Amino acid sequence: MDRDFGRRRTNPRRVRNARKVVALFAVVVVSAIVVIAWTNSSIFARETEATFVDSAFGTVTIQNDGGQTTASSLEDFDTPVQLSTLDDTGMLELVNRNHAASVLPLREDMSDAWPDVAVINQSIGLHPVALTAVTELLDSGHAADYGPFHVASGFRDWATQALLYEQIVDSSLVQPPGHSEHHTGFAIDIVPTLLVQQPASLSEQLDGTSDDERWLAENSWRYGLILRYPLGTQDITGITFEPWHFRYVGQPHAWYMWYHDLTLEEYLQQLRASGGYDVTIGKHCYAIRWSAPEDGVIYVPSDKDFTFSRDNKGGYIITARTEAG
Ligand SMILES: [Zn+2]
Repeated sequence: MDRDFGRRRTNPRRVRNARKVVALFAVVVVSAIVVIAWTNSSIFARETEATFVDSAFGTVTIQNDGGQTTASSLEDFDTPVQLSTLDDTGMLELVNRNHAASVLPLREDMSDAWPDVAVINQSIGLHPVALTAVTELLDSGHAADYGPFHVASGFRDWATQALLYEQIVDSSLVQPPGHSEHHTGFAIDIVPTLLVQQPASLSEQLDGTSDDERWLAENSWRYGLILRYPLGTQDITGITFEPWHFRYVGQPHAWYMWYHDLTLEEYLQQLRASGGYDVTIGKHCYAIRWSAPEDGVIYVPSDKDFTFSRDNKGGYIITARTEAG
């Protein structure tokens, strides 16, 4: 923070006590105003209440109840459990140049049962949850006369990534082995059909401006996917604009990042700082909380379904879901 809260002007010795009191009072008031303004401007304050109409989900509202700073927002997250007993999906794990994948799943954990979607290579696998989401996304695109789309890449093991990294000239296009999102099983490359038949690389062929690419970027959040490397975010993600690379994170998170123009790096940072938020999307109410374990214990809701994911930075995100009333 660039604000200096500690600086206080001292009065000259000869000034009367009354003046000192007035000056001190002014300093306290100004400090309080600065602190309040800083708190409000920091996290999620931009959208404490927001509503818009979505063609797929109807009226979408977001409500921020203050995360960790508001007792009422935490009352449902009251049940201590051992971290080791929870099913950590890794759905929100940050994997980039500075954060190696904490777990390398096995190929057998992935699904390649693509029902109606064209895949460039039949061996392309993806986490089953992500595969379902991508299939629904592409079905929806095809139904609206976009595409046809092809799935070009999904899960990669360490050796495959090492091979790719050796072959690449521009290191801003491919992460070193251990640091690719494709290790998670939640990352997917989607390209329009015509392009995949040409010899040129994806970055030479795709610039995000075609109707197909724009449709994907605008609609992927509905199925829980984000455009992972948006235009102009290379300073944050370390990767140049990739209009074909999507990451499954789950619907409320995908919605928030899309709506607020946030990369995964920025989103996780905000979650950690704020403690979380609530959002209602269509028929589902989500309560999202960031938490750090204490002595291996973390607090979860006892009366709600929830998913759980590490952020790969020492914290965990709990996503509780209930039906909207
Ligand atoms: Zn990719």
